Amino acid sequence: MSDRLSGAGDAPVVIVGAGPCGLAAAAALKQAGIPAVVFEAGCVASSIVGYPTYINFFSTAERISVAGLPFPLAAEKPTRRDALAYYRSVVTHFGIAVRQYEAIESITRSDDGFIVTSRPRGGLARQTAARAVVIATGYFGTPNALGVAGENLPHVTHQFREGHEAFQRTALVVGGGNSAVETSLDLYRAGAHVTMIHFGPTFDKNIKPWVLPDFEGRVRDGDIRVIWNARVVKIEADVAYLATPRGEAALPAQHVYLMTGYTPHPGLLTSLAVVIDPVTGVPAHDPVTMETTTKGVFIAGVLASGYDANKIFIENGRGHGVLIATALKTASPRI
Ligand SMILES: Cc1cc2nc3c(=O)[nH]c(=O)nc-3n(C[C@H](O)[C@H](O)[C@H](O)COP(=O)(O)OP(=O)(O)OC[C@H]3O[C@@H](n4cnc5c(N)ncnc54)[C@H](O)[C@@H]3O)c2cc1C
Repeated sequence: MSDRLSGAGDAPVVIVGAGPCGLAAAAALKQAGIPAVVFEAGCVASSIVGYPTYINFFSTAERISVAGLPFPLAAEKPTRRDALAYYRSVVTHFGIAVRQYEAIESITRSDDGFIVTSRPRGGLARQTAARAVVIATGYFGTPNALGVAGENLPHVTHQFREGHEAFQRTALVVGGGNSAVETSLDLYRAGAHVTMIHFGPTFDKNIKPWVLPDFEGRVRDGDIRVIWNARVVKIEADVAYLATPRGEAALPAQHVYLMTGYTPHPGLLTSLAVVIDPVTGVPAHDPVTMETTTKGVFIAGVLASGYDANKIFIENGRGHGVLIATALKTASPRI
């Protein structure tokens, strides 16, 4: 099926990704009177759906609210459920058109805009004309793989939900960032026997300052074991093989949590000839407009921070939509 393929001049702006920053962009375009449609491979805010079940945001509600829509909350920090309810209300309040479970497969140039090819879940590919495109695909879709044998076994995961599943069982947590530290603590509190290993000599930078003393206390008391400068070389059911400074070691591990971060997948951008910095992974763009080196192609959200996902998050990515709306308002009609 083809939608509006006879000229992109009056076609909507297509936003790829209904994460917080894609939704913020959609709301900003709505406020600017620019028609837009959001395509989302999963459900609205699917990255937050994948958060640990009982996590609290480190941001206050006000700082992850978008487009001026209040996020009323009695508690100091939103829970995952609070945030999901809030982003649903963003969609309904602003009347944002979202095609959930419809991934964008490709975007090509047309004479006066773009042709966007999407595929509804289980359905046939269809095309939509777009005046401009905003890529807000985040990075959670592509976790960093270790590249070791056994990584795809069923007891190995990149996504931590809750510690309960590993009660009285052995758990290996791989990583040295916030996710690894918080996963280890939650597993310990649920009665798991936890070892955390990291390839570096200490934690990653930016560990939440209110979490670190708790973690260090648990390590000091022997509740959580930590092995620095260690790598997983192979995973089998119930055991992980490590390369450590003291040589190879076999560690009992009935659950393996790979908290190894994510890398954005820039495929849609590179297919549109947007240059990606080989060192930082940042797509070449104008930070004033968020327009990339390809005219009419914009980026929003954490995708703009390249390989360092700690640089842009909801707090400072939610404003990208206003920059894009302003740029589109003042752009030539051919965009
Ligand atoms: C546990 C945890 C706690 C966090 N707490 C905070 C916090 O307190 N404050 C804060 O500011 N940040 C926080 N963050 C970071 C925050 O989640 C991210 O910065 C935020 O999700 C980025 O939003 P985004 O819209 O750029 O991308 P995402 O939220 O990743 O959304 C991208 C969307 O694009 C979709 N998509 C991808 N490819 C396609 C495609 N081809 N077609 C259609 N759709 C596609 C994905 O399905 C996804 O829904 C936290 C992160 C984690 C993991």
